[in-house]
Amino acid sequence: MRQSGLFTKISRTAPKDEISINAQLLARAGFVYKNSAGVYSYLPLGWRVIQKIAQIIREEMNIIGGQELFMPALVEKKYLDITGRWDVEIGFDVLGKKDEKPSFGLGWSHEEILAAIAAKYINSYKDLPFYAYQIQTKFRNEPRAKSGLLRGREFMMKDLYSFHTSEEDLFDYYGKVADAYHKIFKRCGLKAVYTVAAGGAFTKHNTHEFQVLSDVGEDIVLICEKCDYAENKEISKLKEGGKCPTRLPDGQKCGGKISEKNSIEVGNIFPLGTKYSEAFNLQFADEKGGKKHVVMGSYGIGLGRLMATAVEVYHDKDGIIWPEAIAPFGVHLLELNGADAKEAYVHLQKYGIEVLYDDRDTSAGEKLVGADLMGIPWRVVASPKLKGKYELKRRSENQAKTVSLSEVARSVNKRTKA
Ligand code: ATP
Ligand code: MG
Repeated sequence: MRQSGLFTKISRTAPKDEISINAQLLARAGFVYKNSAGVYSYLPLGWRVIQKIAQIIREEMNIIGGQELFMPALVEKKYLDITGRWDVEIGFDVLGKKDEKPSFGLGWSHEEILAAIAAKYINSYKDLPFYAYQIQTKFRNEPRAKSGLLRGREFMMKDLYSFHTSEEDLFDYYGKVADAYHKIFKRCGLKAVYTVAAGGAFTKHNTHEFQVLSDVGEDIVLICEKCDYAENKEISKLKEGGKCPTRLPDGQKCGGKISEKNSIEVGNIFPLGTKYSEAFNLQFADEKGGKKHVVMGSYGIGLGRLMATAVEVYHDKDGIIWPEAIAPFGVHLLELNGADAKEAYVHLQKYGIEVLYDDRDTSAGEKLVGADLMGIPWRVVASPKLKGKYELKRRSENQAKTVSLSEVARSVNKRTKA
């Protein structure tokens, strides 16, 4: 894409009403626009990042048998009345006409709807298990909206729901989802720690969170420095400086030192049991013809929070440093001081590289500052003094090298496809 055609522009100053680094950098670089507290528009650059994250999530969900669907944000009160979740504090009501009481809410989770849908199709054990997910907008009336895109009042979530004949089958699949989640976060360049967490409003079982360690995180985990075993402080009996109780495969206790760390919850998985299937009369006939309630699980990842977490973890004083797989473009091509980089623009795209081509009629300084702020993983500079060669530099490194055009394509592709 030619940057001269990009309608957003870089801004040198941070918005005054943003405290968090993620929102400051994303707003300055033109990735997002803040409509209201906790409500953000994704501008073309930000939307590209979200699409990359969504694609990674879809690939991993499809591998574990997830079928994608889409459920509306508008949820009628009658569904949430069944489970007593209409009056939750985080819910948004949609006002009815004039004096009518609200009869719809904006969905903050979709267990009820999918349980109702499943009740229409599931009759026998032969119909199970099945797994369905969506990437959709959720609404939560979050009281604290100081963390930028980490905590939106409207945000995109991938929510997967699984349906099983037994708890054993649920927990077998639960493990597969956990593995898929680890793959998703790793592909997005993040290390997420598997953390034992509270059952919350959902369930009597423990749930598990995926926590990325970060000083700006609103969660606190107690984590073993040796084996990464972690518990959310909300439920943990572990103490900072204590010893890790985990049993190793040889039966010995791990004994590693426990420390307390701030972290960002990027994902959460829940064994739901039969709470929703009982509420929605979701039953199946087993092999002997007896009726049983379907056993469910649900599994969430926030896409905007994931993007914001990457910014919190990967930035420096000059701007964002995107992990390769979720960067809006692979290469930022800058033509400086009257050089013409059109040939390079065409060439790199021929090699399947996504290029943001800064062809704007503006100073070298402005282009270089902008490139650092935007954080595209590779910077390629064309300038008259390079005599037909190009300067190639990774955003994450200080060293630049001067290379030919074919070498640029080779280096970028080698690193990106590795
Ligand atoms: P938190 O404890 O941070 O408020 P939660 O536990 O209420 O989040 P879940 O219901 O577990 O959230 O939602 C699943 C995932 O959706 C979370 O792991 C997170 O990635 C994302 N998410 C939840 N709330 C928000 C929000 N307000 N803004 C952005 N993403 C969110
Ligand atoms: Mg959670």
